[in-house]
Amino acid sequence: MEGVIIERTIENLERNGFSVKFFEDSQSAKEAMLEEIKPDQTVGFGGSMTIVDMGIYEILKERGNPVYWHWKAGEGEDRKELLKQAANTDVYFSGTNAITECGRLVNIDATCNRISGILFGHDKVIIVSGVNKITRSLDEALVRIKNIATPANAKRLGIKTPCAEVGKCMNCDSEDRICRATLIIDRVPRANPITIYLINENLGY
Ligand code: SF4
Repeated sequence: MEGVIIERTIENLERNGFSVKFFEDSQSAKEAMLEEIKPDQTVGFGGSMTIVDMGIYEILKERGNPVYWHWKAGEGEDRKELLKQAANTDVYFSGTNAITECGRLVNIDATCNRISGILFGHDKVIIVSGVNKITRSLDEALVRIKNIATPANAKRLGIKTPCAEVGKCMNCDSEDRICRATLIIDRVPRANPITIYLINENLGY
């Protein structure tokens, strides 16, 4: 990703009310975000392969923060209960499907816990993203999500959507369709401050 595009994206995100912290690598981003979260704060998570790969949930759990993530439900744990608990935490972590150069966040969700958590209910939202999620336009963001992120997610989850089979969106009407709601944030939500940890690496999908 060209530096000038990254700079323009950061400028536009800030103009739209987001806080942006830029890091050259995920290790330094991880250190900064762990410093930002107080040891007694409760932390909820929305689905994100970037966050899985960075091991943030495990580190916070290990150091004693109460953490809630349905992806990490253990034997006998109720996923629905974890989703509800994650919706009521001090801090909410999520990835994002795309960030447009004009400073918008774009996400498509199935359960919709992630888009709901990004929008409301937390003292602090932390979005973790590699620069590979930056797109030149809103149209490109939607194309990216439907043809890269969603097919990969459907495949990973073993969901039988057409995109999992052919690797691109077929605008399906499947029972299993995972594109159920699209969230485009034009400007940071009034009561949910969002900080974007933007990392100069290709992370997640
Ligand atoms: S609409 Fe259907 S085929 Fe298209 S990306 Fe979503 S789940 Fe896949």
